[in-house]
Order: sequence, then C-alpha cells, then structure tokens
Amino acid sequence: MRSVLGVLPILVCVGLMVNGVRLRGRLRRLETLPASGRPVDPDHEFLVAAGVELTEPGRRAASYHASRDKLDVLDLVPADLTVERALDVARMVDTRTYRADRCVPGRGAFQALLVRSEILDAAGIERREGFDPVELVDITERLKLFAAGSTDLAVLPGLRAARDDAAMRVRVQQRCYRFTRRFQVFPFIPQVCTAIGVHVNRPWGLAATALFWCQPFFVCAGRVPLSPRDLIRSPIVRLLGGVLFVVHSVRAGRAQAVRAAEAKAAGLPADPVKHAARQRRAASRATYGRDVRAGLDRFLGEERDDCPWCGSTDLSVRLDSPDMFLRKPGRFRLEGCAHCGHVFLNPPLSRVGHEFYDRDRYDGLRADVGERVLAVIARDRRGQAAAVRPFAVPRSWLDVGCRYGHFPNAAREVWPATVFDGVDVAAVVQEGVSRGWLDRGWRGRLPDLAESVAGHYDVISKFGYLERCDDPSAELDAVTKALPAGGHLVCEVANAECHQARWLGRFWSGWAVPERSHFIPVENLLAALVDRGLRPVLVRYAAPRGPGDLTIGLLFVVAAIAPRPMPWLRQAAGPVQSVAWAVMMAVVSPLLALARLLDRLARRRVHRPAFAGTCFIIARREV
Ligand SMILES: [Zn+2]
Repeated sequence: MRSVLGVLPILVCVGLMVNGVRLRGRLRRLETLPASGRPVDPDHEFLVAAGVELTEPGRRAASYHASRDKLDVLDLVPADLTVERALDVARMVDTRTYRADRCVPGRGAFQALLVRSEILDAAGIERREGFDPVELVDITERLKLFAAGSTDLAVLPGLRAARDDAAMRVRVQQRCYRFTRRFQVFPFIPQVCTAIGVHVNRPWGLAATALFWCQPFFVCAGRVPLSPRDLIRSPIVRLLGGVLFVVHSVRAGRAQAVRAAEAKAAGLPADPVKHAARQRRAASRATYGRDVRAGLDRFLGEERDDCPWCGSTDLSVRLDSPDMFLRKPGRFRLEGCAHCGHVFLNPPLSRVGHEFYDRDRYDGLRADVGERVLAVIARDRRGQAAAVRPFAVPRSWLDVGCRYGHFPNAAREVWPATVFDGVDVAAVVQEGVSRGWLDRGWRGRLPDLAESVAGHYDVISKFGYLERCDDPSAELDAVTKALPAGGHLVCEVANAECHQARWLGRFWSGWAVPERSHFIPVENLLAALVDRGLRPVLVRYAAPRGPGDLTIGLLFVVAAIAPRPMPWLRQAAGPVQSVAWAVMMAVVSPLLALARLLDRLARRRVHRPAFAGTCFIIARREV
C-alpha cells in the first residue's frame, strides 16, 4: 500500500510538467496586438469590466486587428493579468482551435471586449459599462453564439486589468464550470496527492511541492505574451490561496451587505437578477400547478389498437415509464408490434400534451442547460456531416427538427460554403436565423413544406427526428417529395433493438418518453426507404451522442431518489432538496466517473447492432 501511495507524488510531478507544457503552449499562441494609427471603426463598441483601464490607443489597436482579421468579437487580454487568472485563460481556452471551433462556449479573460454593434443588437445587449467579470462570462458566452466563427482573443499591451480578488476568481470559475463541476475539483487532486506523498515518499513529495509553487514561472515567464504583475510573488500567492479566498470573500460579503441595505432602504430588491429569476420560477410554478390540477388526461390523445407502421393488432406493452429526463408528472406506455417490431407511444401525446411536456425542455427555464446539451451533441455530429463527403458535395442542406440550428452551426465547420436551412415546429428556429446559424428558418413540419421546397436541397438531414415526429411514414414521404434525384437523406435513429434497451429498461436514455414516440426497427426503415426510391449507401451503428447510456442511466437513478427542485415538481426548491441532491452526487461520483469511462470506450468500439444505441443512415434518391 505504502509503495502504491509512494508513486503518487511522482505522478503529480509528471502531471504538473505535462500540464505546464500544455498551458504554456496555449499562452504562447496568443497574439499580441500591434499599435495602430487608424481611428476606431464606428461599428466597434467596447464592453469593459469595472476597474479596467482601456486607453484610446488600446481601442485603436483592437479595432484595427478586428477589422483586419474580420472578427466580430475580440476578447482583450490584459498583459498584466495576475498569474492565476492567466492560468485560467490557458485552462479554459484552447488557443489553437478556439477561433475555428464554432461549438465551444465563449471564453476569455473577462476584462474587456470589442464587439461589432450589429452583434450586440442581435444578442440584445444594451448595457455598455460597469460589468463585473461574472457578468462578462455570460455576455462572452452569449456573444459567441452570435459570432460563432468570428470570435477570438488577443493580448492588448497597455490594457490594465482590474484589481484581482480570489473570491471573484472563484465566482468566475463557478459560472464557467457550472455544467462541468469536475473541472473545479481537478486542481485539488494533485494537492491531496502531494500531501500524501510528503509523508510516504519525502523526496518526491517535496519535489512535487516545489514544482507546484514554481509552475507559474514555468508557464508564464520568458517568451510568453503575458507578463503577470504578481509573477515574482506567485509562490506566496499559491501558498496562501485558501487564506486569501477567505479574506476576499469576507470583504466581498461585507460590500454586498452594504449594497443590499442601501437597495432595501430605497425599496428595491437586494439582487435584482436573482429577484427576477425567483419571480420567473414562481410564475412558472403557478402555471404548472394550474395545468396539473386541470387533469393530466387531456395531455394524451386517442389510444390506438393497431400498429401505425403495419396495421397489425397484435400489440403488447414494451415499457411503462414516467418522464425520466424532466420528471414532469404523468405515465407513458410504449407498445410493441409483434408483427413488425415497431414500438410506439400509446396513447400518443395530444397537442396540449406536446406543449406541456416540451415546455422548458430546451427553452424557458432550462434554456441554459438545453443549449449546453444541444451544443455538445452538435459538436459530436461534425463527423456525421463529413460522412456525406464520399457521396455528395452539398450546395444546400435542410435540417429537419433543427431547433436553434446547433447541427447546421457545427456542420458549417465541415461545409463552409454550403447554405444551411432549418425547419422546426418550435419558435426557436427564428433565433437560429438571428444567430447566423441558419440561412433560412421555416416554422412547421416537413410534410407541409415539401411541395414548396421540392428539388431545392441536395441533402435533407433528420437527427433523432423520426422518433419524435407524430407520423414517421408521412415524414419519409415528404423527404421523397422534397429531394431531387441524386439528393441524399442523412438520418440517425435510436436503435431500440439493442440489448441495453432491454437491460436498462426505463433507465435507457434512448427511450426518452414522452419526447420520443416512435422506434422504427432499422430493417423496417431501410425497407421503407427502398420502397420510396431512396437507396441506402451507408448504414453505421454507433453509441448515442452525448454523455452515453450508462452515465445518463446513473443520473436518472440520482434524479429518481433526489430530484433537482423544478417548478413542475410537488416539492419547492429548498435547502433540504439541494443538500440531498449534493449528497447523492457525492456518493455516486466514483461510479459516474467509471460510467463515463465505459461510455467513452463504447463510443469508440461499439458498432455492432446488438449493442449500439443508434443507427446512422445515408440514402440516395434514385432517378
Ligand atoms: Zn407493426
């Protein structure tokens, strides 16, 4: 045991070195803006955090660089950023790929931004000054959505960073890592290992400690465009990190209390943003309460006694499940056809049911989480966009069920010259157009549109869409009508015939009731395509996009025992629920790490129909 623990500080030394090289490389690739004599472009505006000094020559230099490099958003990194902030920039931004990667969230130093006025208007940002760095995190993320391929960061000499504060730095990290909390925990792992190492393997333990203290010199000294103002004293800052955090937190807490008292005296809420969020949740809670009291039966349509695919009446119950993802009230039954194997939601959702169960899924209260999920999945789909290459060079592409247009946005990296349009029943399709992700957005369903767009598109894609439409046969007919001869259908469907769909039961993420209501066996789908003159040219089984079956299954277990308080659940948000959830997460986190690893392996290895959760198909419309 002792010898195993003795290896820990050696691993820490290797890890610190490797990570140091990685972070240094990222900082070295940052560009430094040269001075410019040209006036500032009138279309360029500057958003600056309180306490940051941005001079006129600095504005000119930034404006010239943005015009020359055709950038709409430029994060200005002060060269005198403190060491820990500089390291944070290197940790958060892969400077090699950041500009070209349309799907990563907006990141930077959160001190000052240059933005084209048009982008500020589109993003609905009206304020221009007095931001704190946490607010700039949100703004940078939002701006990146509207300038997906024209956002970058660069060092601006002469720009002076705001006074740094350990408490604010933690708040910025919490905001940035709100979906990936593990990144906030990772930095403590080497410290724990070093502490153990000092006791069991003193020489290496001390070496690890020394390396940890000197890492800032290694990363930031010498030929790096940054010259942190506290580089010399950084070992002391690192040593006293915890103490500084407490001192700064107490100071920030006092300032906050004074502001809150002033606001209260003036009859205003202490924190207007939190107050508005609380009111929104209360209103939503009241609406959900009314909806549920009016009865859940109206959310379901008429029960069928025959299979929607083949008409057979030999049906049996395949799954009885609640809404596992959102945990909205109601129970759903999936029935399977003994004749053709089609599985479908019976009874299906009614029109009001769709509205009720889809509300706050990717918009409203969960817009933030929903966007994050869609962005991660879309980033993963770039390979699928590239899979079209051997068969066609698309000039125009229609994504059906596109929501905001996350897939077209990601696919533009692969097909920069292609026109991408989208169609969806949800209103968010218009947001996709204003972000520049979609060239054109149609609101509605493809069958209503097929006639008017016939022959327009070289490729029509449907990712996870046939499962959630009301009538898959009509959707396939519409594709046949819309595609020209030689055009391609690109689609991905859930493979409900895989083993884990049986083994995990309602904990299999692929079921996703009530969002999904049709599961077409792949053989049936291929036959249906051939019947319509669509010849399959590529059929590839794979693990699902996103976190993976085991990870989501485990999160379902956590949510079943300690659900996160949501306005549609009976219990209100309170400290007890939050603590219960945090405890559950702490207990299962080792299992989650294992599940993540297995899912990642599955994504690389699993391509057999028996174990793959999805099937990806490209079919060509024959003459
Ligand atoms: Zn059937």
